[in-house]
Order: sequence, then C-alpha cells, then structure tokens
Amino acid sequence: MLDVSGLDLHYGDAQALAGVSLHAQAREIVVIVGANGAGKSSLIRTIHGMHRPSAGRITFEGIDIAGQPSHQVVERGIGQVAEGRQVFPNLSVLENLEMGAAPRRARAQEKATLERVFGLFPRLAERRRQAAGTLSGGEQQMLAIGRCLMGQPKLIMLDEPSLGLSPAMTQEVFRVVRQLHADGLTILLVEQNVMASLKLANRAYVLENGRIVLSGTGPELLDNDGVRQAYLGL
Ligand code: ATP
Repeated sequence: MLDVSGLDLHYGDAQALAGVSLHAQAREIVVIVGANGAGKSSLIRTIHGMHRPSAGRITFEGIDIAGQPSHQVVERGIGQVAEGRQVFPNLSVLENLEMGAAPRRARAQEKATLERVFGLFPRLAERRRQAAGTLSGGEQQMLAIGRCLMGQPKLIMLDEPSLGLSPAMTQEVFRVVRQLHADGLTILLVEQNVMASLKLANRAYVLENGRIVLSGTGPELLDNDGVRQAYLGL
C-alpha cells in the first residue's frame, strides 16, 4: 500500500533522513522506533507532503506522491495525527471534527463518519459543544484522532499519540489503535512506548540519525538485543 524508498530529506545543510526505505501493506500496523531527533516526525511529515524530499520515492497504492502538497495526499487517503494534538482550542469539539471532513473524499459520508467517531470516543460525544481547549490532554488526543478519521483515511499516521498522557489514557490510545486496525485501517505508528507498540506491530523499523538500522516483525524486534538495551532498558 505504502512504499518509501531511498528517501532523503534536508533542512538546509542538515540531513534529517538518509536513504529511508519502508513498506506498509494494507491492514498492517507498522511501528517506527527511534530516539529523540532520529527523524521520525520528519519522515511522517515528508510522507504527508509537508516537506519535499531531496531524493527518493513515496508511492501510495502505486502512485508516486513524493512532493505532492498535503491536501492532495489527504485526498488520496493518508491521514496524519501530528505530535502534540493540534486541535483548534477555541472551536468546539464538533467544529473541530467537522473541519476534519473537509477533504472531498469525506464530505458525502460526513454524518455517518461522525457517528462512528462518537461511537469510538463516547467522551467526545458527551462534550461535543465544549471548547476543545478545555478538554483534558487525553481527550484532546482523542479529538485529534477523531478529526483525522473524519477525513476517511485508508492509512493513518500517528506521531507519538500517547506522549504526556496518563497510564490510563495511554491504554485508551492503544485500545483505539487496535480498534482502528480491526476496522481495516492501515496504521503507521511512532511511539515512545516501545514495548506496547512493538507488541502490536506487524512490521517495525528502527530509525537512528535519519537511517533505518533495523527492521523486522514486532516479535523479532522485541527479541533483538540492541532494541532491548537501547529502547526497552532490559
Ligand atoms: P522527537 O522524538 O524528539 O520528536 P524525531 O525522531 O521525531 O524526534 P525529528 O523531529 O524528525 O525527529 O527531527 C530530526 C532532525 O531534524 C533533528 O535534528 C531536528 O532538529 C531536525 N529538524 C526537525 N524539523 C526541522 C525543521 N523544521 N527545520 C530544521 N531542522 C529540523
């Protein structure tokens, strides 16, 4: 479904991604693990059309999307939930969700998708008239995911969705990831919660200094000595 090959990204003279290749098949959960500054967010943003790569290919369902603007990438069915829950604080929960249905591909189904999102996140349904900025951190993360779902993505990319959340809310985020996977979405997940995310992963990659240094199935990486020492503290 998604194929990235030989991707380079530069910020001025600084190289953030070097020859990154990765692959996600339909209905897979693909996890990217890496230390701070490894380039995980840069990779997601580049796939989403926010940065133009200096080399490499990004194909989605057989079409080269490298360098296409974000709104076109979204129309093809790739959604992104950025790090740090970028909700509109002064708009209500409902207004935030409605903004997510802006892509043409999503408009006709908006009502049905909204019901689905409220089914997935009953707390958002209860708080639909509340200003998004007054939600708890966990609720804002749910809203950010819900807004992305309103665009009817086939592939959803989640950048550190459990960052800064309580253990209970972190579990809730993982419940949602499992549910989206069961509903047929393909998921690209960047998580600092390495153990929990590798347990879910059909495929996983370790990114260090802008390069993929290791890949395998979730269980393979959980068994890898380097991963256990560097990311699991074992
Ligand atoms: P973190 O987990 O800390 O968010 P990350 O793995 O997501 O880290 P990136 O945010 O992609 O890493 O950053 C990779 C490198 O690129 C870092 O050295 C960072 O300083 C640099 N970088 C990221 N965004 C920009 C930007 N807009 N302009 C210049 N340099 C950037």
